[in-house]
Amino acid sequence: MMRRLIARFWPGKPSAQPVVCRPDEHPVRRDQVSYGARTVTRRLQDAGFKAFVVGGAVRDLLLGLEPKDFDIATDATPEQVKPLFRRAFIIGRRFRLVHVHVGNEVIEVSTFRAPQKAEESTDEHGRLLSDNVYGTQAEDAARRDFTINALYFDPATEEVWDYVGGVADVRARRLKLIGPPTTRFREDPVRMLRAVRLATKVGVTIDKRTAAPIPKLAPLMANVPPARLFDEMQKLLLSGHAAETLKSLRAHGLSHGLLPLLDMILEQPMGQKFIDVALAHTDRRVREDMGVSPAFLFATLLWHEVLAQWNAAKAKGDKPLPALFDAMDRVLEQQAERIAIPRRFEATIKEIWSLQPRFEQRAGVRPFRLVEHPRFRAAYDFLAIRGESGEVDPSLVDWWTRFQDASQEAREAMLKPDEAPRGKRRRTRGRGRHAREEGTAPPAAGDAESE
Ligand code: ATP
Ligand code: MG
Repeated sequence: MMRRLIARFWPGKPSAQPVVCRPDEHPVRRDQVSYGARTVTRRLQDAGFKAFVVGGAVRDLLLGLEPKDFDIATDATPEQVKPLFRRAFIIGRRFRLVHVHVGNEVIEVSTFRAPQKAEESTDEHGRLLSDNVYGTQAEDAARRDFTINALYFDPATEEVWDYVGGVADVRARRLKLIGPPTTRFREDPVRMLRAVRLATKVGVTIDKRTAAPIPKLAPLMANVPPARLFDEMQKLLLSGHAAETLKSLRAHGLSHGLLPLLDMILEQPMGQKFIDVALAHTDRRVREDMGVSPAFLFATLLWHEVLAQWNAAKAKGDKPLPALFDAMDRVLEQQAERIAIPRRFEATIKEIWSLQPRFEQRAGVRPFRLVEHPRFRAAYDFLAIRGESGEVDPSLVDWWTRFQDASQEAREAMLKPDEAPRGKRRRTRGRGRHAREEGTAPPAAGDAESE
């Protein structure tokens, strides 16, 4: 009773004892937890340890959403967890956890962790450099980010254990940092991004006290390693709510540090329209489980900056193709200072961009080559977004939509007259091959398209 009162009047202050929410006080049932997570918690408990489902999964279940995965928290150390399972692997060097494989599921099991003392392990801005000490369950709750992310569900008893007032915040659909917001954001500025992402994703409102310091602290994002920002941005952009989240990021003043180029793009109406169309397209694909490539997404986010730099170079009289490649390199370099796009994505991004001018060529053999390019599909989807946003004539998109599905004869009939200077003309494949057999046409491979 007393604890409930304290929790009520001192929200956000972690307590040493949990408020235990009985099954008749909340809607979550054990059969909503995956088979793997139930198996793992049961086996840990049978061996005498504490074990709970924790974090995003409990939050999602309480909110009536379907969790993406189930994480387990326990007082057993990784060395104690591992021998209890046939297929369990200790991973991570700095903070060790156990991956337990149950059927097709991989369940992440982490030992209760304590927050480290700020003075021992923060940089000059208050950012935590490590958190690596085992702790009690209460400490484990307190070191988490938001109250609704710090709830523990025991599948055996169907109880929810709450050290931080998270159940009340779920009911109020409120996202609230545990502890003093400014300190917690300083410790880890990525929490600002997470606040905006999670609020949009699960449909809750960021608490006023949590939201208040964000615009002022936003510049701290500059100290977050670019690789970590890439991971968070990827989660954000592939959430199925990218368009809405980006709007919210801008409203909280968070987009500047992240995507400096994106800011410039969004300032021009054409760029804004393009991003809106691209994100709506991505969100639709995510929601329909169609798979989205991060490379495609980053290619769309940065395209208008490439266009701007490319057009400027062409206006100065630079040759179109080399100017495009220069612009691509410059944009990726500028972006890499903030968010590290992995190299393997960069290659794909460049391919998607560099194929764009080839859609203009609709004469001779070139369109036949383009549809067979391994990146044709991605480049065509990209062209469609350019069409929908008004950057290119929709009739061009329409032509390629028909061309790729047409028969050989129909394709030949669709070709435009060749307006290239005589020496540079390319014949259609059929005619070219025929002519070559007669020994009159030059070989078709390795020509201007690979410029
Ligand atoms: P999602 O459903 O998008 O995965 P999530 O809340 O599960 O959301 P994860 O990144 O999987 O996010 O993190 C799992 C849990 O770890 C969180 O619920 C939270 O308790 C804790 N956590 C994650 N990131 C932080 C952070 N930056 N600071 C403190 N705790 C964090
Ligand atoms: Mg998660």
